Amino acid sequence: MKTALSILKKNYGYDSFRGQQEEIIDHVISGGNAFVLMPTGGGKSLCYQIPSLCRDGVGVIVSPLIALMQDQVEALKQLGIRAAAINSSMEGGHVWETKQAIRNGEIDMVYVAPERLLMPDFIDLLQQSKVALFAIDEAHCVSSWGHDFRPHYTQLAELAEKFPDVPRIALTATADAPTRKDIVERLGLTDGRTFVAGFDRPNIHYTVSVKDSAKQQVLKFIKDHLGDSGIVYCLSRQNVEDTAQWLKQQGLNALPYHAGMNAKLRSKNQEMFLKDEGVIMVATIAFGMGINKPDVRFVAHMSIPKNIEAYYQETGRAGRDGLPADALMLYGLADVAMQRNFIAGGNSPEAQQRIEHHKLNALLGLCEAACCRRQVLLEYFGDKASPCGNCDTCMSPRETFDGTVGVQKALSAVYRTGQRFGVTYVVDVLMGKTGERTQQNGHEGLAVFGIGKEFGKHEWQSIFRQLVAQNLLQVDVAEHGGLRLSDVGMKFLKEKETIRLTRPMASVKAAKTRELKDAVAFNDAQDQTLFDALKAARMALAKAQNVPPYVIFHDKTLREMATRKPTTRDQLMEISGVGEQKIARYGTAFLEVINGYRVAA
Ligand code: ADP
Ligand code: ZN
Repeated sequence: MKTALSILKKNYGYDSFRGQQEEIIDHVISGGNAFVLMPTGGGKSLCYQIPSLCRDGVGVIVSPLIALMQDQVEALKQLGIRAAAINSSMEGGHVWETKQAIRNGEIDMVYVAPERLLMPDFIDLLQQSKVALFAIDEAHCVSSWGHDFRPHYTQLAELAEKFPDVPRIALTATADAPTRKDIVERLGLTDGRTFVAGFDRPNIHYTVSVKDSAKQQVLKFIKDHLGDSGIVYCLSRQNVEDTAQWLKQQGLNALPYHAGMNAKLRSKNQEMFLKDEGVIMVATIAFGMGINKPDVRFVAHMSIPKNIEAYYQETGRAGRDGLPADALMLYGLADVAMQRNFIAGGNSPEAQQRIEHHKLNALLGLCEAACCRRQVLLEYFGDKASPCGNCDTCMSPRETFDGTVGVQKALSAVYRTGQRFGVTYVVDVLMGKTGERTQQNGHEGLAVFGIGKEFGKHEWQSIFRQLVAQNLLQVDVAEHGGLRLSDVGMKFLKEKETIRLTRPMASVKAAKTRELKDAVAFNDAQDQTLFDALKAARMALAKAQNVPPYVIFHDKTLREMATRKPTTRDQLMEISGVGEQKIARYGTAFLEVINGYRVAA
């Protein structure tokens, strides 16, 4: 019988298992149920792919997005594994053939959407065939607590009754404690084992900056990533269109993606993102789930996302291959008002809205954190961490100061002006700026008028953001971003509490991106030339087969080839990510590039 380790080596070309992979794989091979929580890029796929290959029968993989199944199937085929997908976008004849192959035991793995899996004819087919396991990918979709609930997923509980002897493994990268429990219960996995890996994504560098001119800030960030693939998340479809067009005008290869687009164009853009190199996808959150492109080098948020889970999942799409990647979030109080609006207008019950507001507060805490961003993120998920050295606050620590008097002034100004004005106005009052509105409102005669001249406009704005983040002030959505004191804010004034604040954040620092670049750059400039040549060869092979380049080899594998320069098949075999099938198909082509380069050099 094939062992898990021999499959890892021969098919995948990897030397050893990572983290808990081996334990999970052994558990499932021996028939156990499992719930696996592992960060993106942690290596979840192997946890069901290898058991599918080791156990008799077909591995059935439930995946929410049919558009992306083909991509996974293609990657498996390239490894010499018999994989197929069945979904509504396929022709009847093709589906029939695949079903026939399943019945005959000629397929190792099949990808299906939950609604298809649960159709009586498909269940019948599986009951007549041998099933190795069920893998439920993106398992958080089963939970209404999670942020991507899909009703069809809940019916997957039926699998336990219909196939009591087939192991089931559910996998996700995002789930806080209540969601986790919910998934395990809903999918009937209480008798199985739960594997929770740490959440850390050490190769991602986090930066949060105050939004002043969002487009310019993002442009500057992208310019440090010229030629890289990346994602720019925007809050609305209109923002997506505007930003994509603007980036294009700046000479960048940017494409829009949102749910309001014509379906054909949308899937064409997605395909270009997957199959070409260096495409920037400007998108709403509709984009990203199920995308397993390993070489996304950056993710930028033009506005804050809705909570930390969403942020972690969205940024998690960068750097799956383990190479350095970069995340930038721009943040301003107008976004906070907008997110609050979404929650209030989203007609979920009040209790749910309260949870969502709390989750948003936690995100604001991240934005205003004076300590390591990664620490804040990991602690949110219940992991302990020490300062990471790879985030903006670690690399340029923020100074703190005693903000008690400033905060008293700020809160008083909000209170005295009637708790209905936005930041800009209240700051004008504090700084004693006379104008039409302050005159009309009769605020120039207030005791708070002009009492805050010790700070500039930016400093005051920073103070107000921190007060919102710490929940002393609330942004009133009904009042167009009007500020009002929370109970915590009231208590602060009444009980004369003290507070420390951080100095305003600077915009994206040049220094930080330099270091990131160094981490990706080759020591030897000639290795870079060889790497580029290997990439070109890969692109040609990919184009010829109409597949994404990364299903041939990952960047990481090409980088290793560029530095180690193998000249024989045996040496090439030693490179991580080069398995038997890949050698047979592409060995000659890549050795030619390397040898040609040696001759030239
Ligand atoms: P996830 O689904 O958890 O996001 P993947 O399964 O896509 O992660 O794996 C992420 C990357 O790590 C892939 O490129 C995969 O080939 C690679 N990988 C997974 N396991 C190993 C391993 N044991 N050794 C080397 N690379 C691995
Ligand atoms: Zn840090």
